[in-house]
Amino acid sequence: MTTKTYDAIVVGARVAGAPTAMLLARKGYQVLLVDRATFPSDTISTHLVHPPGVDALERWGLLDGVVATGCPPIDTYAFDFGPFTLSGSPAGNGARVGYAPRRTVLDKLLLDAASDAGAEVRQGFSVEAVVSENGRVTGVRGHDKGGANITEHARVVVGADGRHSLVAHAVSPEQYHAKPPLLAAYYAYWRGLPMEGCFETYVRPSRGMAAWPTNDDLTVVIAGWPYAEFEANKKDIEGNFLKSFDLAPAFAERLRAGARETRFVGTAVANYLRKPYGPGWALVGDAGYNKDFITAQGIHDAFRDAELCVTALHETFSGGRSFDAAMADYRTARDRHVLPMYEFTTELATLEPPPPELQALLAAMPGNQDAMDGFARVNAGVTSPAEFFSHENVERIMSQSEAVTAVH
Ligand SMILES: Cc1cc2nc3c(=O)[nH]c(=O)nc-3n(C[C@H](O)[C@H](O)[C@H](O)COP(=O)(O)OP(=O)(O)OC[C@H]3O[C@@H](n4cnc5c(N)ncnc54)[C@H](O)[C@@H]3O)c2cc1C
Repeated sequence: MTTKTYDAIVVGARVAGAPTAMLLARKGYQVLLVDRATFPSDTISTHLVHPPGVDALERWGLLDGVVATGCPPIDTYAFDFGPFTLSGSPAGNGARVGYAPRRTVLDKLLLDAASDAGAEVRQGFSVEAVVSENGRVTGVRGHDKGGANITEHARVVVGADGRHSLVAHAVSPEQYHAKPPLLAAYYAYWRGLPMEGCFETYVRPSRGMAAWPTNDDLTVVIAGWPYAEFEANKKDIEGNFLKSFDLAPAFAERLRAGARETRFVGTAVANYLRKPYGPGWALVGDAGYNKDFITAQGIHDAFRDAELCVTALHETFSGGRSFDAAMADYRTARDRHVLPMYEFTTELATLEPPPPELQALLAAMPGNQDAMDGFARVNAGVTSPAEFFSHENVERIMSQSEAVTAVH
């Protein structure tokens, strides 16, 4: 047991934890960042980072590092619904493109940035328990690989330890808007499948498929089906994966012309929001909020959590505001931002046919570049679904389509 008290101990050093530690350390706080993994380290994720996440990397001075790895930019999002394709730009207010850096690349870069900022980093350190005194979290107990138990103390323990968060389990936060797993999906990396800067998705009855480029001239290819088929389809993942792509024959041909380089990896995830703070603790990233990966929002959501949580902790540590008031703002801002996307994502993840009004809206968009860009921006997390699907915007798109039909 040591006598030092850190300002914060951050458990989990990937896309939520490393930026949280980095931003706190940049403000001069004493931070201990721990992870049981050693980096570079892969994790289950298809790692598409939409423009809002790219913006965050740029703000933090880390985008050049990602670009220098040769990871190609993605400037076009194409949604193939069978009868028509909606193709648009996801350009946000700042970044105009997305990137999909391998997690071995991205997470290591973020970890190094935390260390460079002055955070003390312990890799290969497993947290076994959260330590509390009088109902308040005061630290963690854990060990290095093969080492003895060590207890460390902090003013705040931040759980950035993912979907199976030990910190969240220990503090039992209120959970809300919970939904069960809806989709099961598997991915692998292909060589010889050029994507020309495009994120392509294919929407078919009870199937969703997508592909996009990453480091080392590889392409991520993913296929998903309803969770109800999870158990049955597990018996032949490759067969079911390829059968899904047969529903998009032109892409299936491109897939067959390339070569699969890796094994299939896949899963299904639960959907929830958790209260992200309490006495002596906070949650960021998947530990506090998780949703199906069909819209690939997890990384930029984790980045936003890191910024919001650090703003709140700074307000508390610097004596300006109470912990509860500052962290309540973090929660409100997070929930307000993510809830419309959470509902949109969990609807998409059912892979059920869209309701008739949405089908009519989608069918009205081909040829309307503004509308298709708008749809790409919704999927990229740039524009809120609440804004895009507002009565006013839907009316505008429908009337533009009617005007075009009338002219022809
Ligand atoms: C199949 C799939 C595909 C996805 N694709 C995308 C995508 O394309 N784009 C996107 O934005 N998001 C995607 N996501 C979501 C995204 O991967 C997550 O939202 C993101 O990884 C969450 O980051 P995190 O830092 O909160 O947690 P994690 O990335 O899960 O990291 C948690 C870390 O905590 C450490 N840890 C856990 N417990 C302990 C402990 N007791 N002691 C020490 N360390 C501990 C772990 O070792 C791990 O390194 C996908 C998710 C899945 C499942």
